[in-house]
Amino acid sequence: MSLFEHKEFDNHEEVVFCHDKATGLKAIIAVHDTTMGPSLGGTRMWNYASSEDALTDVLRLSRGMTYKSALAGLPLGGGKAVIIGDAKKDKSEALFKAYGRFVDSLGGTYITAEDVNIRTSDIEIVATQTRYVAGTEGKAGDPSPHTALGTYLGLKAAAKHALGSEDLKGIRIAVQGLGAVGYDFAEYCAKDGAELFVCDVNQESVDRAVTKLGATAVSIEDIYDVECDVYAPCALGATVNDDTLKRIKAKIIAGSANNQLATPAHDKIVKDMGILYAPDYVINAGGVIHVCSEAASFSMEETAARVRNIYNTLDKIFTRATEENRPTGEIADEMAREILAAKAAERSL
Ligand code: NAD
Repeated sequence: MSLFEHKEFDNHEEVVFCHDKATGLKAIIAVHDTTMGPSLGGTRMWNYASSEDALTDVLRLSRGMTYKSALAGLPLGGGKAVIIGDAKKDKSEALFKAYGRFVDSLGGTYITAEDVNIRTSDIEIVATQTRYVAGTEGKAGDPSPHTALGTYLGLKAAAKHALGSEDLKGIRIAVQGLGAVGYDFAEYCAKDGAELFVCDVNQESVDRAVTKLGATAVSIEDIYDVECDVYAPCALGATVNDDTLKRIKAKIIAGSANNQLATPAHDKIVKDMGILYAPDYVINAGGVIHVCSEAASFSMEETAARVRNIYNTLDKIFTRATEENRPTGEIADEMAREILAAKAAERSL
């Protein structure tokens, strides 16, 4: 397994392979870039088919965190960690303690938090071994309300560009997933007079949106076929793919889900179809802003102002994408790299 030649290697500063024989811990921590500050990113637990797959994931995700925090204007770099294992069988207190010692050994260049298959209770165990953790219980708390607010404001910026007005009154929105973020997002849109079409595997969530928000229920299979202006993925990744794009009729794709595009190539495919895509890591940055507020001790007002700024960031991305006739995801990555280059130049002075 090569590292420096790996297709996802992007001048990562540190990649640490963690192994603890006694607990069976196998993890990889990737610190992509600390130009803006210490790297922050969650720890994911996944039963990867191979350590090569785990390395690919952690290299890609850590770079994504660098771009996300840079565009969100946070004093943070990008990092991520993966624990290789089955979250249902392989978790133990000793394993998370061993992992915490590895996080601590990096001396603060990497701050961890929860991610897929990792609960706050697991991070509490990690926190017994290191202070480099964020998002623990009793501190910043649930980031979802801020993610929902940022996603709603990001949609308004997209509506301004693709539909001629940021007013959501009468706009038809297909919301996939009514969880912690999706429901609050749908509620904001409903208050603005949007017409909602919703789906979720959890029938109770659908019934609540129908009763309280006046939404129309759609089956999870039919959500892509809804005649709508906006497709808002708020559940799963990779739902924007060759199959769904044959069915999606929306002019805008804007939702909270991570990794919405099945492949990087779908950025251009979506643009060529005349759909305005709000890059996922920009529109859903309310969560990382919230978690950072704990580490950086932002006031409530400052945190809220940073979340509201997601509107302005997307406005700039959409304007530049239109002027340069380029895909929005490509523009977002480029703008993040410009922020990093400006900071690096400032430092060298
Ligand atoms: P959640 O688990 O609370 O909600 C997800 C919802 O999607 C659940 O209600 C679930 O039943 C539903 N769902 C699952 N499979 C589905 C399917 N096939 N069709 C329709 N619905 C389905 O998660 P969340 O915190 O609301 O996060 C939603 C998305 O936003 C995730 O992709 C997450 O990674 C991303 N995100 C969340 C945050 C945050 O602050 N919570 C921050 C950034 C990104």
